[in-house]
Amino acid sequence: MRVIFLGPPGVGKGTQAEYIATKFSIKKLSTGDLLRESVDERTPLGNEAKLFMERGELVPDKVVIGLVEEKLVSPECRNGFLLDGFPRTVAQGNKLSSFLEGMGESLDRVVYFSLPQADIIKRISGRRSCPKCKAVYHLESIPPKKDGVCNICGLALIQRNDDKPETIQSRLVVYQNQTEPLIQYYKDRGILSELDGSGEVSAVQERLVVLLSQPG
Ligand code: AMP
Repeated sequence: MRVIFLGPPGVGKGTQAEYIATKFSIKKLSTGDLLRESVDERTPLGNEAKLFMERGELVPDKVVIGLVEEKLVSPECRNGFLLDGFPRTVAQGNKLSSFLEGMGESLDRVVYFSLPQADIIKRISGRRSCPKCKAVYHLESIPPKKDGVCNICGLALIQRNDDKPETIQSRLVVYQNQTEPLIQYYKDRGILSELDGSGEVSAVQERLVVLLSQPG
C-alpha cells in the first residue's frame, strides 16, 4: 500500500500514521520528523531547514524532495509507505508522481483529514512531546500518566517551538496557500478520500481502518 496523509497541521495525521504503518506493515515517512532529526543532529540540511521551520514556513522543495526520494528507494519501503506531511506543495506532488513512475510504482490513495479550524488550534496548542523518544501527547486527549512527564522516558515534556501561538497562525496560512491546492490535485486524479478527523483518537482510527481496508 502506498498512501499519503494530507491535511492541516495538528489534524492528527502523525498520531494516526504511527498506528496505521504498524497495522499495515508499511514504512511511515514523516518529513516533519525527518527534518527535526536533521535539525537536532545539526547536519547541513538541518541547519538549512531550521530557520524556515521556526518561522512556520515550508522548507524549500529541493531540500525536502531529496530527503524523501532517498528514503523511498530504501528496502524499508518495498512493502509500501505512508507519507505524513509530504507532499505539501503541488510542485512536491508532481515530483513525487514522476519519481514513483520512474520506479514503476504509483500511489494507491490520498487520505485528506478534515477538521474545523477551532479544533485544529486546540489540538496544536495542547500538543507536547518527549525530547528524547519523540512520543507525542496532548494535554487533554492523550495526557501522560504523570503530568508533564513522558510515560516512556520519564523526561519533562516540551512544546514544539512552532506549536507556540505566534507561529500557529502563520502555519495555517501557509497550509491554505501552498498545501490546500493538493486536495483538488488528488481529487482530479481520482485517488482522494476525505476522512472526518474529529473526535477521539480511537474513533478516527476506526474510521481510518475501515477506509483503508476498502478497495481504492
Ligand atoms: P510537521 O511536523 O509536518 O508539522 O512539519 C514541521 C515543519 O517542517 C513544517 O512547518 C515545515 O517547516 C517543515 N516541513 C515538513 N514537511 C515539509 C514539506 N513536505 N515541505 C516543506 N517543509 C516541510
